[in-house]
Amino acid sequence: MKENKLIQVSTLNDLMLGDYEGSVKIKELMKHADTGIGTFDGLDGEAIFYKGKAYNGRATGEVSEMNEDDSVPFACVTKFNEDVQEKEFSFDSIEDFKEKLEKELPSKNYFYMVKLNGTFNVRVRSCFKQKKPYEPLYKVACDQREFEYHEIEGHVIGLYCPNYVEGMNLPGWHIHFLSKDLKHGGHILKVASNNATYKINKLNQWNVILPDSKDFSTFNLKEDLSAKTTAVEGSSKK
Ligand SMILES: [Zn+2]
Repeated sequence: MKENKLIQVSTLNDLMLGDYEGSVKIKELMKHADTGIGTFDGLDGEAIFYKGKAYNGRATGEVSEMNEDDSVPFACVTKFNEDVQEKEFSFDSIEDFKEKLEKELPSKNYFYMVKLNGTFNVRVRSCFKQKKPYEPLYKVACDQREFEYHEIEGHVIGLYCPNYVEGMNLPGWHIHFLSKDLKHGGHILKVASNNATYKINKLNQWNVILPDSKDFSTFNLKEDLSAKTTAVEGSSKK
């Protein structure tokens, strides 16, 4: 069977409830994957995994490459198959991006990893590293900075999750940005491009690594946090 595997660290509800303790090292994750998104220990910035390296789009507006011994509390990665058709793509908003790409999906019941190259107008946000004791994500979401870049060359990396993953992950698209010069990046709030290209991988396996943390062991992970999650993932202060 052809392996197109999504490897996920922790569940979204566990992160939402405040389990920011890194549980899997980058070097472990990158043994099995090279592309994806997530965050780092302590909710330190926005993770972009690109060509096997882990970049942190920090709330300072800068990007740094993380150490292989750094860890992630939540991440979604895959070994990206580059051997797929590259298609041209123009879109004038994040809503347009989502709508147009969804029309390309053969079925909405699988996971998909998408990778774009191009020049973008993009607004990103990033979180400051949290101090212990950790507060739930829906409370600290305001502790973020936003940055806007115009006509910037770079990459968009995104994950599409089917609607049945509620609580485990975020249904629909979740996309991060990394500039070509590796200096800027973050969680995308707004984006547009008139000259992008994309490659998409359909993922038919879902491997979830459950953290060995006290929080994960004791939280009520079945709580319906969908409204709060949507607010956190999409919220812009402007
Ligand atoms: Zn994000």
